[in-house]
Amino acid sequence: MVKHHKRVHNGKDRLTGRKVLQRRDVDTEVKTRSIGKPNTFGLPILTRPSRRHCNCSPEQVKQVNERLFVELSSIPLSYWDRTWNELTGAWELDLPKHFAAKHRTHMRHFRAYARERIGQ
Ligand SMILES: [Zn+2]
Repeated sequence: MVKHHKRVHNGKDRLTGRKVLQRRDVDTEVKTRSIGKPNTFGLPILTRPSRRHCNCSPEQVKQVNERLFVELSSIPLSYWDRTWNELTGAWELDLPKHFAAKHRTHMRHFRAYARERIGQ
């Protein structure tokens, strides 16, 4: 490929021969906050829902906690992760990794709940 050849030609990459996806049309509408817009003044800016954690409401938290606890208690103890606590000199149970990964989003409120139920 010579320098003045553009790499993409007729929708294909010259080097790999693969199809190159069309560029999406650039959004012409610019998203801005309401600063300086008198007609939106005073409107609350809503908090963006989290995608990393769940967005459970307090009632949902209770239901989800109970549902997850039932599932958790069906996991045999041999599947649980254990960490050695040097201070107390005892093994401490930790939530099984696959369980924590599966319900990653709810771990923010479930860990505390599980700890309370198990009594650790
Ligand atoms: Zn949740």
